[in-house]
Amino acid sequence: MPHLSVCAVPPDFYHEGDLVGVLTTQPLDRLLDYKAPEGGCHLGAFVEVPLGPRKVLGVVWGPGQGDYDRTKIRSVIRVLDVAPMRDEMRAFLNRAADYTLTPMPAMLRLGTRAPGLGDPQSMRKIYRLGSKDPDRMTSAREKVLGVLRDYGGLSFTLRELAEMADVGTSVVKGLVKQGAVAEEEAPRDTPYPRLDPDYGGKELSADQAAGADALRAALRKDAYGTTLLKGVTGSGKTEVYLEAVAECLRMGRQALVLLPEIALSGEFINRVEARFGMKPAEWHSGVTMTERRRCWRMVGQGDAQLVVGARSALFLPYQHLGLIVVDEEHDSSYKQEDGVLYNARDMAVLRAAINGAQVVLASATPSLESWANVEAGKYTRLELTSRFGASVLPKMSAIDMRVEDVPGGRWVSPTLRAAISARLEKAEQSLIFLNRRGYAPITLCRACGHQIGCDDCDARMVEHRFLKRLMCHQCGETKPMPTVCPSCGAEDRLSAVGPGVERMGEEIEGLFPEARIAVLSSDLYGSARAMKAHIEEIASGAADIIIGTQLVAKGHNFPLLTLVGVIDADLGLQGSDLRAAERTFQLMRQVAGRAGRADKPGEALLQTYQPEHAVIRAILAGDEESFWKAEAAERKAASVPPYGRMAGIILSSPNVQEVFDLGAEMARLDAPLRQIGAQVFGPAPAPIARVRGRHRVRLLVKADKTAPLQQALAKWVGQFRLPTNLRMAIDIDPQSF
Ligand code: ADP
Ligand code: ZN
Repeated sequence: MPHLSVCAVPPDFYHEGDLVGVLTTQPLDRLLDYKAPEGGCHLGAFVEVPLGPRKVLGVVWGPGQGDYDRTKIRSVIRVLDVAPMRDEMRAFLNRAADYTLTPMPAMLRLGTRAPGLGDPQSMRKIYRLGSKDPDRMTSAREKVLGVLRDYGGLSFTLRELAEMADVGTSVVKGLVKQGAVAEEEAPRDTPYPRLDPDYGGKELSADQAAGADALRAALRKDAYGTTLLKGVTGSGKTEVYLEAVAECLRMGRQALVLLPEIALSGEFINRVEARFGMKPAEWHSGVTMTERRRCWRMVGQGDAQLVVGARSALFLPYQHLGLIVVDEEHDSSYKQEDGVLYNARDMAVLRAAINGAQVVLASATPSLESWANVEAGKYTRLELTSRFGASVLPKMSAIDMRVEDVPGGRWVSPTLRAAISARLEKAEQSLIFLNRRGYAPITLCRACGHQIGCDDCDARMVEHRFLKRLMCHQCGETKPMPTVCPSCGAEDRLSAVGPGVERMGEEIEGLFPEARIAVLSSDLYGSARAMKAHIEEIASGAADIIIGTQLVAKGHNFPLLTLVGVIDADLGLQGSDLRAAERTFQLMRQVAGRAGRADKPGEALLQTYQPEHAVIRAILAGDEESFWKAEAAERKAASVPPYGRMAGIILSSPNVQEVFDLGAEMARLDAPLRQIGAQVFGPAPAPIARVRGRHRVRLLVKADKTAPLQQALAKWVGQFRLPTNLRMAIDIDPQSF
């Protein structure tokens, strides 16, 4: 798709009847011409325009091209009552589209995710629990009332409520008639209370103070810059970057703190409140539509000073953004893996560069990308070397599973068991870490050897005993746990093979019947809210032994925790992914970092069958610099990211022949790639070869760091016509290679 360029200096305002070029969220590859409405409109104005018989949302992107018959050009219907999109935001969307090779309409959709933006009707009324019971209860009605009860006190829009309850809007309307649900006028969006940058600052350690000074000085330059803030978990990074936020607020500019979705807890919001006296604006999937709408508008008016959010908060319409913090910058969940494929960390840097803002990338275990950027002099490195206060990094050691006596179907070694007992005696918490959801990863028929797989994906069905179902972790499909083998029909011969967290829960319960045990896994909760509430309860002491997936590795404080036991430290080292070592290193360090945060020293025990493996040794030695140097050397030798550039092309179709045929043709007609010295590998089955019934094939393109990869890719893929059912996704900087 061609770049939607506009003339160099478009006028700021268009008078009634002037031709304007409007970018819409509809999949069209050009701007559409309209006449400016009565009263005119600004460049960047959000508008409603007619398109065929429909009305669609758009943004005034520049002057019209004037290449249509002028008499047939229609007028903008109305200008929406929100602040126009700023130049920087339009530049950001353009550049992000160029980088990720995403069509502009899809990019604009990311920037207009405000509920009710194009639809004023939808926001007029809100709904909450009424005072009466309905005369007749149906399961649909039950669902609606259930949602309202679960979210006690909150109100929703009609569409939002119907969607959450998974019923039609008429069900809600029916309940309104009966007085069981109250319908009210929506209040005007209330502005966020002002944050006070001087409210609750802590007295900083010397290390922290130096870090905060450096960040404040960088902010006062009023120009772009990126700082990598490195420090072990508990070293006080959050306190330091909150000082940078404070300075940004003093300067009258807006700040954004990005967290991995999983870490967006009430705990963090409370911390912000303790620091600034008031809660910040929140933007993530756990926020109601009404709140999201308020956030989008207030950010656009400049009335939200601080946003705490997930990756999509990057696309809010900031008026004068001064600082973006990306906490846990190495986290792979910053990569959006469907729709527009982007890495929020990289987009944060791009956005800041355009806005003249500062970026702080915080992590205990930075990505190799960020290390390389520090090395290349692009980022400034700031390090907190000690843990805050008296706490120290946990002592790390391996448990060599080759010499431990563990009966079949059990996973806890005697050594780990003894360590847990010792904690129970001292009333301290232990965390047993296993990065596998469900009860058991494999369900095997002991009669015929069949393993139950998903019908639509190239994946095993995982037993979830809590839900009494088998679940595919690729597509989410579930089915009841069968009693006979679906392949040979044998009865009662299906057995669970391998451990998942639920099964670990059973084993630990057997070993420590007196202990209070909590299993933390995302499937065990009805909502994100319920999960967060439970985690907070556990953190304050409601359990003696916590069993969890990577959910617990991220972002939560467990002050009473002094032991971390990793059931299978080798898990992430399997497979051929070049990032496996980096990921395992990061995850293990992070999990271990959960122990001994307060003044009690912690210990981390890693069960492994390969204690001599280089990655395991590096984790135990805590020798990060040499781990990263070795990793960097390997990537350099293979010229893969961050020392080379890569792109993945994923072709998918229900027709396996078609994807391989097109893949082979693409590999053959690679002249545009060869022109820039790039190579193409494949087609090969994608890392997940079949998802939701679609066969997936991947081509990998590898180029030099400085090669104009996107241009060549656009030229290359532009040569091919895609069969109707075939989809192509381009993934710049893929997560696995
Ligand atoms: P990190 O972000 O590096 O994991 P935090 O900023 O969360 O570290 O700090 C770890 C703990 O130490 C938190 O409970 C925090 O409140 C506390 N802490 C950090 N710095 C200070 C300080 N200067 N004064 C008092 N407590 C602090
Ligand atoms: Zn599936």
